[in-house]
Amino acid sequence: MSQIEADLLVIGGGATGAGVAWDACLRGYRTVLVDRSDLADGTSGRFHGLLHSGGRYVVKDPRAATECIEENLILRQVAAATIEDTGGLFVSTPADDLSYGDEFLQGCADTGVPVEEIATDEVLRREPRVNPAIRRAFAVPDGSIDAWKLLNALASGITEHGGSVLTYHKVIALHRDGDAVTGATLRDTRTDEEMEVTAGFTINASGAWAGQISAMAGIEGVTIVPGRGIMIAMNHRLVNTVVNRCTTPADGDIIVPIRTVSVIGTTDVHVADPDDHTIAQDEVDQMLDAGEQLVPGFRNARALRAWAGVRPLFRDARAEGSDRDITRSHTLLDHRERDAVERFLTITSGKLTTFRLMAQETVDAMCRHLGDARPCRTREQPLPGSEGGEYYTVGTRLRARESDGSDPLVCECEMIPRTRLEAAMRDKGTVNLDDIRRALRLGMGPCQGGFCTYRATGILHEVGHLDGATADAALLGFLQERWKGTWPILHGDQLRQSRLDDWIYQGLLDVEHLPDWSAT
Ligand SMILES: Cc1cc2nc3c(=O)[nH]c(=O)nc-3n(C[C@H](O)[C@H](O)[C@H](O)COP(=O)(O)OP(=O)(O)OC[C@H]3O[C@@H](n4cnc5c(N)ncnc54)[C@H](O)[C@@H]3O)c2cc1C
Repeated sequence: MSQIEADLLVIGGGATGAGVAWDACLRGYRTVLVDRSDLADGTSGRFHGLLHSGGRYVVKDPRAATECIEENLILRQVAAATIEDTGGLFVSTPADDLSYGDEFLQGCADTGVPVEEIATDEVLRREPRVNPAIRRAFAVPDGSIDAWKLLNALASGITEHGGSVLTYHKVIALHRDGDAVTGATLRDTRTDEEMEVTAGFTINASGAWAGQISAMAGIEGVTIVPGRGIMIAMNHRLVNTVVNRCTTPADGDIIVPIRTVSVIGTTDVHVADPDDHTIAQDEVDQMLDAGEQLVPGFRNARALRAWAGVRPLFRDARAEGSDRDITRSHTLLDHRERDAVERFLTITSGKLTTFRLMAQETVDAMCRHLGDARPCRTREQPLPGSEGGEYYTVGTRLRARESDGSDPLVCECEMIPRTRLEAAMRDKGTVNLDDIRRALRLGMGPCQGGFCTYRATGILHEVGHLDGATADAALLGFLQERWKGTWPILHGDQLRQSRLDDWIYQGLLDVEHLPDWSAT
């Protein structure tokens, strides 16, 4: 069994864990970040894409609102390349209580969220599809943030500063020496090989799975309520600004423009299992109806795909009320104080927008435990790729294409040229096309992989020197992943598209009857 040693083991390759590892590496700790899957395959890659201004929380959760605006401003400096500066609007639709606007304005003033009330005709000039019956509107500095780009930048930063990132390595046991956690046993989920990590300190940043990990350290009672929410991507940008309803936070009250699509969300349903990504038909209908309130005709637009993510909400035994009443702020559990377990912390809940702050507080707490004060540098140190301080825009890929059109496109919807795809395959060293999707958005456009999956498989076969069985598995795995998100919204043009995709893969390639490689 292979063995590694580190100052710090971080469990969970979402925004929180990668943020913790980045922070710790900048403070000079030898750090290993592990995830059971690819980076951002948990909630961080299944979220709504909103860089919160804090506006959503100003009335009901002022602490969360202040954290959001402070972190929003910091991320615009240090992670600019992962952000699109769309701006945000809060609008009062005819279904909303008009007086909430006054509470909203007061809440913004109290929490430091910059806000400007603007005339409704000005909103309709900027965003012609927004409901013409809106009665009040406020502009706030919301944005759109690309979690995959963020996680890739954090991973580059970690490795550039001496840390390691082990994806597809699941923690299957935590080690204890007396009162202290001293490392973990990992299993490589692709090869089944096991590895031992000996670590001076361990941080549990496994989001909705945090209760499972802390139980491995013999700690009970870390109750995370998995709150599942669905989102639906529409096939183009119905709005170019984040549009929120100006009302008490509820389901389906935000549309976020992300790259070439716009996304409506979300719901909030209790589930027992953090791996439950079920998409219920009534939730799909609920989202499409909610979209109508903000953009009339929303239901007639083409829905591309639906997906679900699971909120890690830490339930305080003393809290009462619904999950929307649980603070959206984060929870840092000091297991020395709480459970008399040394060298182990859990950080969970919060939002992607506040991941940097969560990481800072966690690594500060570790430094206090170790009696080793080292200052945090993540406020000032830009992530790799963000040194120039420039946001991305919706036209970034088109501009690159126009300046050099010689490289053939493999995925036309997301404008991915062949050399870029090959480079990502080599960098990732993966045989899983879904990992490539997270790196480049492969197959995420209107055809949902219809025209690029067979091309990408052929290139992966060549670049990775794969055998037939592995290449076929990559093709089938990716088709299955795409299909999971398409079938819940099959209707109209997307139904026609899926039929065409089906003809390509079943009719032409007969993927259900690929060779049985076990015989060769
Ligand atoms: C529907 C929805 C919409 C949201 N929208 C927004 C939004 O618009 N803006 C915003 O700021 N926030 C949003 N959030 C909140 C935000 O997405 C989450 O708070 C954040 O992504 C959590 O990140 P994390 O790193 O803590 O957890 P995760 O991203 O879930 O990371 C935890 C990781 O732990 C790994 N793990 C689990 N078990 C093991 C194990 N045994 N061994 C190794 N690894 C393990 C998992 O694979 C996972 O990758 C949304 C959340 C939901 C559910």
